[in-house]
Amino acid sequence: MSISSEPIVVAGAGIGGLTAALQLARQGMSVTVLEKRTALVEAGAGIQLSPNASRVLVSLGFGAAIGRRAVAPEQLSIRRLGDGRRLATMPLGAAIRTRHGAPYWVILRADLHGVLLDAARAEPGIRLLVGKHVTGMAERDDHAEVQFETGNGTPQTLRTPLLIGADGVRSKLRSVIGDGDAPRFRNFEAWRCVIPRDSVPERLRAHDVVAWLGRNAHVVHYPVAGGGAWNLVVIVRSQSAAEGWGLPMEHGKLGAFLASIPAPALGDLRALLLGGENWRLWSLHDALPAVRWSTPHATLLGDAAHPVLPFLAQGGAMAIEDAAVLGEALAVHAGNTRAALAAYEEARYPRVRRVMEESRSNGRSFHFSGAIAVVRDLLLRHFGAEGLNRRYDWLYGWQPD
Ligand SMILES: Cc1cc2nc3c(=O)[nH]c(=O)nc-3n(C[C@H](O)[C@H](O)[C@H](O)COP(=O)(O)OP(=O)(O)OC[C@H]3O[C@@H](n4cnc5c(N)ncnc54)[C@H](O)[C@@H]3O)c2cc1C
Repeated sequence: MSISSEPIVVAGAGIGGLTAALQLARQGMSVTVLEKRTALVEAGAGIQLSPNASRVLVSLGFGAAIGRRAVAPEQLSIRRLGDGRRLATMPLGAAIRTRHGAPYWVILRADLHGVLLDAARAEPGIRLLVGKHVTGMAERDDHAEVQFETGNGTPQTLRTPLLIGADGVRSKLRSVIGDGDAPRFRNFEAWRCVIPRDSVPERLRAHDVVAWLGRNAHVVHYPVAGGGAWNLVVIVRSQSAAEGWGLPMEHGKLGAFLASIPAPALGDLRALLLGGENWRLWSLHDALPAVRWSTPHATLLGDAAHPVLPFLAQGGAMAIEDAAVLGEALAVHAGNTRAALAAYEEARYPRVRRVMEESRSNGRSFHFSGAIAVVRDLLLRHFGAEGLNRRYDWLYGWQPD
């Protein structure tokens, strides 16, 4: 079956869905994007874009637009939450750009999403329909039928030669298209907020990504919005999953967490976190990637296919990589969608599986305490900057074939 003149349908206008739509439109295909939200407003939070992801965005022509809104941090600095001691640093900035040929950016999700959305709206090959809630799909002999509801609940269908399910971690399409298990809560929750630069203590204003590792908790912060604001993330263990995504958080939680940080050594970090208002909470889920995530006329992409924990900062990056690889597979196997989807799955499975496992592993080691934390800290110091660089070459050095 070949891609006919009917549009490809992408379900979900998130980071992955929009990147895929843009990639395919630039390859000359027409694409209809169905998005359930009517207002496309992203959560107030930042996202790290490592060179493996930025490379794809640059190749699509977004280097300048994203670069204007992002920050290219100088280094990753890993510190101990218990006493603030620096354990390791890894150069980012110009060093990582030289090493991997693409920048390491940190940016507000809303800024990244805005660049993609503006480009999709300006692209003649893309039709973006909001307020369309995809509910399922059916395979037919030579096409897929996408089922969706409009704002007033009216059911509709759309015929397409290829459906791409990019509907996120709570995907409706995952169980219909793939054979994977539902994502499971992994007993972590993330609290996030963004604060203006003026609220950041002077000594923490360096343009660095800083990760503080502690017992059953870690904190990450970095500048966003060209350095005009800071993204704060606290991750703690949690017994139960909250219903919802990006929920307003009770302030008492932060107070209890701060009470557990030794006061004298960490005054700046406390002040930084206390500067945050409007904290929001995400219960964290992941799932093994489905072994099969395509049917003859449908496939999955991004969190819908392989949700990962955020401890390697790679969920969005994997969605962006997926978009590039899917585009390439459809180009190489033009006229044979089944072969293209098989090539796409084959290329992506080992990589997303490794990212999922390494993210889980970081989740454990970031939160070590006692003797095993001492060993981790020694290893981090032993690695040094070059050791850390080498450890992540497989990840950041990725390029589409
Ligand atoms: C605390 C935290 C920190 C993170 N940090 C990073 C990081 O630093 N770097 C990184 O790369 N990743 C990070 N991630 C992961 C990243 O946010 C996700 O992996 C990424 O957003 C996935 O993109 P996506 O397009 O697959 O899904 P999403 O961005 O979730 O988009 C899905 C879209 O589909 C729409 N949708 C959902 N259901 C339907 C439906 N039925 N019909 C139509 N539309 C639908 C949604 O409204 C949304 O627009 C982090 C995640 C968390 C929780």
